Amino acid sequence: MKKVVVTGAGGFIAGHLVMALKNKGYQVRAVDKKPLTQWYQVSEDVDNLVLDLNSKENCYRAVNGYHEVFNLAADMGGMGFIETHKAECMLSVLINTHMLMASRDCGIQRFFYASSACVYNGEKQTDPENPGLKESDAYPAMAEDGYGWEKLFSERMCRHFMEDYGLITRVARFHNVYGPFGTYDGGREKAPAAICRKVIDKELYGTGEIIIWGDGQQTRSFMYIDDCIKGILDIMYSNIKEPINLGSSEMVSINQLVDIAEGIAGYKLKRSYDLDAPKGVRGRNSENTLIKHYLGWEPSISLKDGLTKTYAWIKEQMIKDKESRSAAPHPEKHIH
Ligand code: NAD
Repeated sequence: MKKVVVTGAGGFIAGHLVMALKNKGYQVRAVDKKPLTQWYQVSEDVDNLVLDLNSKENCYRAVNGYHEVFNLAADMGGMGFIETHKAECMLSVLINTHMLMASRDCGIQRFFYASSACVYNGEKQTDPENPGLKESDAYPAMAEDGYGWEKLFSERMCRHFMEDYGLITRVARFHNVYGPFGTYDGGREKAPAAICRKVIDKELYGTGEIIIWGDGQQTRSFMYIDDCIKGILDIMYSNIKEPINLGSSEMVSINQLVDIAEGIAGYKLKRSYDLDAPKGVRGRNSENTLIKHYLGWEPSISLKDGLTKTYAWIKEQMIKDKESRSAAPHPEKHIH
């Protein structure tokens, strides 16, 4: 039986990946530094390990006795997080370095690395009508400061571990992934989840206004989690040796994203724009010629369909949060 390690398994994407690998009949070891109670998805028939993978010893412990690695652990978040935690984002280099060393030394046969569209040169993303970033647009390098540079460096380390040590590495550049069982509040959430939350706030708390970061005309594409998981598996077991885009090519402005969320809710909010908030590049889209060439497939779940499911999940969580807060004993009752 194939034995696979998934890092970052307490988080959003790797949590879904663990479930998919388990359903394929693989023996899975799931690793994250967060306590198990904070994992989005926990599966009992999986070897769940709580380890901080910044530590080299812990990386050796994580891979020992296993055949393949999906390395998704990283200190990350949406624009609000990565623009203000650059050093913290760059420290994820410790995870990737130590995981590669441990994989090389412990006989790992295949290694997947989750890179990001943040590796792309910022100068190629100044137009909201971005025709799509093709893989070669990462060079000459001018990645997103902090987070993007770390991803680009780790991509290259994967390449050189393959060339110099024969470790088979596969690298996908994810473009904004969204879906249920991910972060929707607390500061690390990304635009689709944050916008769903702000729209749901109106229904639950009566707030009538949505504050949009930037002028709302910046563009992005968003990939639903099911497409992401299919892409990870197909890329991992492919012969694709170079980093490849894994993203939707359905580009929308942030204003259009809000329109879709409002359409799902069935009401509209008053919009105001915070022009000083972190907003990232002006236009970003995934160019999918290469993935279509290699896999005969590209992410295709529509934003409307994916957001409908995501919205429903976030709403359910927010209702539970609200109920548990109103059921909690009043602080004064505690004192007496
Ligand atoms: P996430 O924050 O939900 O999950 C990452 C997990 O890694 C977290 O649970 C965190 O606790 C864990 N982690 C962080 N540092 C660790 C450490 N030192 N040791 C062990 N675990 C550690 O993020 P996600 O959205 O699921 O992202 C997964 C991967 O995909 C990351 O590498 C991220 O950079 C990449 N990515 C995600 C997106 C996206 O849109 N979500 C886009 C591009 C790239």
